[in-house]
Amino acid sequence: MSRKKIKLDKIFFLPYIECMQKYKKQDARTYCANWDNGKCLGCDMYSVGKKLIMRIDSKKQGKECTVDTECNYFSRVVVPALSV
Ligand code: SF4
Repeated sequence: MSRKKIKLDKIFFLPYIECMQKYKKQDARTYCANWDNGKCLGCDMYSVGKKLIMRIDSKKQGKECTVDTECNYFSRVVVPALSV
C-alpha cells in the first residue's frame, strides 16, 4: 500500500467516525443554534446549486431535542462546523 493511499483513507474515515459519534443534549445546548431551552426551533438549511435554502421542519419545531438519539441537522450542519 502506498503512503498516498493511507492518507486518503484517513480523510475518508475521520468524518465518518465523527458522524457516527453519539452526542449529548449538552452538545446541542452548547453548539446548536436551534436549541431553545431543550426544545428545537426546527430551522434547517441546505444548498441547491448556489442558493442557500432555509426552511422550518414542522416535525422538529417545538419538540424536544433529539440529538442524543438522532439529529440529521446536527450531524450534517453543526458537526462539520465544529471540525474546522
Ligand atoms: S434536535 Fe437537532 S437541530 Fe434541534 S436543537 Fe436538537 S440538535 Fe439542534
